[in-house]
Amino acid sequence: NYPELKGKVAVITGSSKGLGRAIGERYAKEGMSVVLNYRSSEKEMEEVIRGIEAAGGKAVAVKGDVAEEGLAEKMIEKAISEFGKMDIFVNNAGVQVEAKTHEMEFDNWKQIIDVNLNGTFLGVRAALKYFVEHEIEGNIINMSSVHEVIPRPGYTHYAASKGGVKMFTKSVALEYAPNHIRVNAIAPGAIDTPINEETMSDPEEKKGLEALIPSHVIGKPEQIAAVAAWLASDESSYVTGTTIFADGGLSLYPSFGPENK
Ligand code: NAD
Repeated sequence: NYPELKGKVAVITGSSKGLGRAIGERYAKEGMSVVLNYRSSEKEMEEVIRGIEAAGGKAVAVKGDVAEEGLAEKMIEKAISEFGKMDIFVNNAGVQVEAKTHEMEFDNWKQIIDVNLNGTFLGVRAALKYFVEHEIEGNIINMSSVHEVIPRPGYTHYAASKGGVKMFTKSVALEYAPNHIRVNAIAPGAIDTPINEETMSDPEEKKGLEALIPSHVIGKPEQIAAVAAWLASDESSYVTGTTIFADGGLSLYPSFGPENK
């Protein structure tokens, strides 16, 4: 635990399930107040909030699509009206759809870029505006992926969006370093969340994925939430403009591993 996180206020997009949910729950355990977000799954969102409250935490939710202008501002306003301020903004919401590039509908491409990259821009812009205007040494965390460096056939739009998140994160971190606003990204490998439901429910596919990971272990959402807690804490106070990989070695060129010799 990080005692300095107690009383801090975080906004987390796409937090009705998966990694966003795990980050919200971890932050609440740290004594932070959280503003969560869902696009359509109201029932799931309510359950998450009830769980956090039952454990003694504070959480509220704002409905909306990160790809639409105005949601990030609404979430920050909610943070201020409910908890008095905003310290940490986590751009977590993300989507993926498989498609061969030569058959990919332009709308499909645009949807992925809209949510993963444009949504991150909108969140970052709103958070920066608030931090700069109030001279707050704030903290921004963007959810990237190992696919910010590992090419991903069948998901070229997804890889392009995360490559974009990587350079956007670095550029913003440099631009606002004089303001002492930290901006970092997290690159998860394969984590057991609803986004990977299909793979996880098919024993053969699951085995194939485990074989691909050097540690042969699929990650848990809590392991990503732990990185998000560290990045929010003062323990990482000199860290900005970087991506923290949490991937069981997936980005380490596994084909060069000892088992492939
Ligand atoms: P998930 O599908 O389990 O959850 C995604 C969350 O985002 C959900 O709460 C969903 O409602 C929300 N969301 C989706 N589109 C939205 C939109 N337009 N507006 C608002 N909310 C929206 O996925 P996850 O695995 O928890 O993924 C979270 C993030 O982590 C994504 O950015 C994803 O690319 C990234 N990531 C996940 C993995 C993994 O293996 N799970 C690996 C690398 C990166």
